[in-house]
Amino acid sequence: METPNPPRLEVNGLTVRYGGQTAIRAVNLHVQRGEVLAIVGPSGCGKSTVLGCLNRMTDLVEGADVQGSIRLDGQEILAPSIDVQRLRRRVGLIAQRPNPFPFSILRNLTFPLRHHGVTRRSERHSIACDTLQRVGLWHEVKDRLHQPAHLLSGGQQQRLCLARALALQPEVLLLDEPCSALDPIASGVVEDLVASLRGELTVVIVTHNLAQARRIADAVAVFWSDDGCGRLVEHGRAAQIFQAPSHAITQAYIAGVRG
Ligand code: ADP
Repeated sequence: METPNPPRLEVNGLTVRYGGQTAIRAVNLHVQRGEVLAIVGPSGCGKSTVLGCLNRMTDLVEGADVQGSIRLDGQEILAPSIDVQRLRRRVGLIAQRPNPFPFSILRNLTFPLRHHGVTRRSERHSIACDTLQRVGLWHEVKDRLHQPAHLLSGGQQQRLCLARALALQPEVLLLDEPCSALDPIASGVVEDLVASLRGELTVVIVTHNLAQARRIADAVAVFWSDDGCGRLVEHGRAAQIFQAPSHAITQAYIAGVRG
């Protein structure tokens, strides 16, 4: 039977092994439409692994074995028949380190649009300019659109990567510690941008910055590692997790005693 508000993403019994070693076991999670979910926890507890499964980036990891179910709007995305390219357009990923293509600033945006079927050059150009405005880069780059993207600062490059993902009009955006390689000011700009997407896009952000999770997340999933195997300890509304965590591990982690 359909629930009134079916989740945008629903993860059930997700277990990932790398070369036979279990990285995460039996993870159940759901993300509502328009919500920002922060995945937090100490290093090595499987946060990036979960994120990578959500747009099948784990397919590219040799020796990775993914079991369980991930539904996007009810559709099983772990099914072999899924068009992975189309999935990655719907579920964009921003990496920890800015990774612009070795092209010009403009081409970083127009190239993926062309690859994903936007055939008219004027349309690609117009989407690129609009998206640069949306991430607050337009005034900084409008006079050097044809310069190599790698000449931009780290923070500008990360906003360009965000623009590159947003230009494809994704339904879900995955961010893997997007601010950790940036200075505090650039980090704040990127964080504000992510916060501005709330309600419009479904966002899953991995962060080990609890203050950041507190500022931007609607919901929080706390992961922990037991003997090298990651698991979900607690998942709830951000206010509940930060003010009244149920699990002793979450209480210790939030208090800074562990992790
Ligand atoms: P986190 O993002 O919380 O730091 P990861 O998802 O990166 O955790 O890693 C979870 C576990 O899986 C760790 O033990 C890590 O060493 C292992 N792992 C991650 N990626 C790979 C890989 N490509 N090959 C082998 N082991 C991996």
